[in-house]
Amino acid sequence: MVTGPKLRDAIATLPTYKAGKAPEPGEGKTFKLASNENPYPPLPGVLEAAFAAAGSMNRYPDFGSVELLEALAAHYGVPVEHLAVGTGSVGVSQQLLQITAGPGDEVVYAWRSFEAYPILTQIAGATSVQVPLRDEKHDLDAMADAITDRTRLVFVCTPNNPTGTVVHRAELERFLDRVPAGVLVVIDEAYREFNRDPEVADGIDLYRDRPNVCVLRTFSKAYGLAGLRVGFAVAHPPVAAALRSCAVPFGVNLVAQAAAVASLRSQAALGERVEALVAERARVLAALRSHGVEVEHTEANFYWLRLGERTVKFAAACEESGVTVRPFAGEGARVTIGEPEANDLAVAVAARFA
Ligand code: PMP
Repeated sequence: MVTGPKLRDAIATLPTYKAGKAPEPGEGKTFKLASNENPYPPLPGVLEAAFAAAGSMNRYPDFGSVELLEALAAHYGVPVEHLAVGTGSVGVSQQLLQITAGPGDEVVYAWRSFEAYPILTQIAGATSVQVPLRDEKHDLDAMADAITDRTRLVFVCTPNNPTGTVVHRAELERFLDRVPAGVLVVIDEAYREFNRDPEVADGIDLYRDRPNVCVLRTFSKAYGLAGLRVGFAVAHPPVAAALRSCAVPFGVNLVAQAAAVASLRSQAALGERVEALVAERARVLAALRSHGVEVEHTEANFYWLRLGERTVKFAAACEESGVTVRPFAGEGARVTIGEPEANDLAVAVAARFA
């Protein structure tokens, strides 16, 4: 018999988070298109702010992230009391589950979607209710039907990771009208800045008169601070305050806070980079289609190839060409829009698989 500390049953069967693979150091140039990272270096002024903050690393960061919260409030036009920051939006997602769900409770989300949802739900001891995507999109009617007395939280991921599809404002409003007031709806907009579809809902507009809506945003994608771990939630005061009370003390570190504040000040450069990535996305999708590759329309900084059983082979072929992508075995591959040279390598491999 194995003896040792008794761990919670939920932990023994936890699915593992498969982080995007970095390329093996090889002879030629290699690229990572596996984690939806931003290929650009930090925005102007950000490295300087981060360096300056790093000089005080013997001190704890500001416990309340006051300067960052004030900068976020000013930029997004929301009251400071409606904000909570965390260690990436995945950290905030974990706090969201802590404040809403435990054993016996249900968490509804589309599937396939962001792979942290099932893991965080299980860590909370709650039960996942996965509602299959329909044509790679959220099936909001089926999601509303899946809500029961036990439902505490619903994730809506738009643009959806990994399929890149979005939820339109009208359908989201219809859905929200059906959700009971006691269920928190989390609109995960990690890729919001890359959206160009005018009909897409903006969570920060929608949450204002809906106390059971919470919006998740991140500095990891468009802002390019994935390595520093800063995300935030916008929600009404009871939810935002609960999130702040569940935060790991000092979790958002001093360098991360300074870099996020400096990034918010660099909107012009941010806009140019996002625009360039959106233009590159259009170029890549056109190139894929010109080779007969079937690719889902995407509003994110990645695209989705439903390759089914050929997915793993495709990922291996990409790796041979010097790029890593994110395969979901038997389903499809998610490929980040990165440096044009990297994108071209992935397109060439996809063309061979068309
Ligand atoms: N939400 C979605 C939909 C994501 O794809 C990701 C990153 N893969 C996150 C949240 C988390 O990002 P971060 O924790 O870096 O903010």
